Amino acid sequence: MAKRGMLIVLSGPSGVGKGTVRKRIFEQDDNKFDYSVSMTTRKMRPGEVNGKDYYFVSKEEFEQEIANGGMLEYAQYVDNYYGTPLKYVNEKLDSGKDVFLEIEVKGAMQVRKKCPAGLFIFLTPPDLMELRQRIINRGTDDMATIDKRMNKAKGEIEMMQNYDYAVVNDEVDKAAEKIKTIIRAERWRVKRFLPDYKKHLGDELK
Ligand code: 5GP
Repeated sequence: MAKRGMLIVLSGPSGVGKGTVRKRIFEQDDNKFDYSVSMTTRKMRPGEVNGKDYYFVSKEEFEQEIANGGMLEYAQYVDNYYGTPLKYVNEKLDSGKDVFLEIEVKGAMQVRKKCPAGLFIFLTPPDLMELRQRIINRGTDDMATIDKRMNKAKGEIEMMQNYDYAVVNDEVDKAAEKIKTIIRAERWRVKRFLPDYKKHLGDELK
């Protein structure tokens, strides 16, 4: 039996550019992981392809999938359902392939609970880093704006704490490259690597 694949979750706050970075990663064909196409009830946008960008389904079909236990995770986002079909993910992982999800934060936390061994990457907006500087340069923002930004940033940092890695989305190419580097390195983590040795050496390796 193949060694079970690794589940890779890319998430982050809304508007950070997760979809753009994910598309850039998959534009390159040197990836050794497969993208799990999500299911959604939102309307198809021009240029999108059913089965490639999403599986576009009705609300009733989505709710039926939930009832059947067919979703690894799902969330409601701006009045629509989004979720990860479980079957594809399980089949790929069982066959030894790594699977890549790009999902919003509520769904990512459901996956964290169900699959704690996954790799969780948080894409963060560059202005979260610049925040301190903004506050120092108070002249540019009024107090109300600073408070609003501070609160948003706090919420985002709190979310980030639940992840293994954070990648700043300053430039799409750079962010995509960093994510691929993280995935490559993660494969060689001792905790992922050691079980292979144990399998071959049996009881001699405690
Ligand atoms: P959009 O409608 O712009 O394609 O996506 C809206 C949001 O839904 C994005 O934050 C995207 O990451 C998230 N999303 C896409 N697929 C899934 C999914 O399968 N599950 C969850 N929880 N979120 C998803």
